[in-house]
Amino acid sequence: MTSETPPLDTTPASPITQRKYRIATEIVTVDNADEHGAASVPIYQTATFKQKSATQMGEYDYSRSGNPTRSHLENHLAKIMGAARAYAVTSGMSALDVITRLVKSGDEIIAGDDLYGGTNRLLSFLAKTQNVKTHHIDTTNSQSIIPHLSVKTRLVLLETPTNPLIKICDIPAIAKLVHASCPNALVVVDNTMMSPYLQKPLELGADISYHSGTKYLSGHHDLMAGVIGCKTDAIGEQIYYVINATGCGLGPFDSWLLIRGVKTLSVRMDRQQANAQRVAQFLEDYGFKVHYPGSRSHPQYELHHKMAKGPGAVLSFETGDVGTSERIVEATKLWGISVSFGCVNSLISMPCRMSHASIPAHIRAERALPEDLIRLCVGIEDVEDLLEDLYAALVSAGALQDQALEEKLNRLALDGRDAVAKRKD
Ligand SMILES: *Cc1c(COP(=O)(O)O)cnc(C)c1O
Repeated sequence: MTSETPPLDTTPASPITQRKYRIATEIVTVDNADEHGAASVPIYQTATFKQKSATQMGEYDYSRSGNPTRSHLENHLAKIMGAARAYAVTSGMSALDVITRLVKSGDEIIAGDDLYGGTNRLLSFLAKTQNVKTHHIDTTNSQSIIPHLSVKTRLVLLETPTNPLIKICDIPAIAKLVHASCPNALVVVDNTMMSPYLQKPLELGADISYHSGTKYLSGHHDLMAGVIGCKTDAIGEQIYYVINATGCGLGPFDSWLLIRGVKTLSVRMDRQQANAQRVAQFLEDYGFKVHYPGSRSHPQYELHHKMAKGPGAVLSFETGDVGTSERIVEATKLWGISVSFGCVNSLISMPCRMSHASIPAHIRAERALPEDLIRLCVGIEDVEDLLEDLYAALVSAGALQDQALEEKLNRLALDGRDAVAKRKD
């Protein structure tokens, strides 16, 4: 679809800075050579830019093609992702849409079998409308890709860890297999669960790494964005061509918000991850089956830690009973019932009822996605409060026995009812 010669002007506003410092320092250090010395990157809330003459175009002319606030964001992201070029678009799905436009009718995609729901939906759409077939494989076994590699393979789409089953795939091993037999294929990694702070797919052999900026990069659930990092300028030019052609570049205000959010990525992630580690341990101590790459019992613990600097802050656990899981989710007070993750606040959900409900039940069963699975996305609250709230919910749902606490909770519920009754009097 993008075989015409790219592009206009994809030159970033300022040259990509090589990383000079450790990652936490780079993350908070945004280059900004503003003529007035503004400490924060200014918001260029403008659609057009005046030109000096009719024949000589300046660096910017129209915000769909380029905007200085977006360029600052993109340069910063390229630096922390280890990318030759990075681009910011309107959502994570829009990032994948841009990437899949590099695929022509008749080409094929190979992807995991435990993908983000929206990714599944877009791939099904491509199969139905564009004659682009996707082979779903179990990416935990790198060899399983071999029978599907062919001259038709254009994209290999990986997620690691997956969500919510937290399966890990070997990015370097798969990239090697793909590049050895399909020089035309691009290895693409959805790195949303890890963020560039913890894992850098481009340094592990991927050609493209993308993120939903809605999650950890922004960190506050107050904007939607997608980010695409490209290993080479040549891939970057193809991606830029699609973004300019389709008009999905991130607007100036959201670009500014994302710059603001990303500066605190390392402190948020350190804290969220430390909290998640405690929560995982707590649940394991009570005998629940926990899925978390920070847990020693995770079957791919070693592999994950070879690729990533930490386990992240999303985990899931099984209770053995769907009703019990529903009661737990509804009994928590601090943990907000919500889809999504990456926010500073802690969230709880039941994937089969919420984020993954669009996947038909028989396919969920095929993929061994337990109906009772609870997903926890751990935030930056005081972990003692998070544990107390979870403990009380487990007891009140009947998943744990604690006579004294149960009586206390009952009393509190009665007191609450009395207080409401009194207010009504
Ligand atoms: C949320 C998410 C997306 C989609 O991103 P949006 O910003 O919601 O469009 C893609 N992949 C993963 C792993 C996600 O969690």
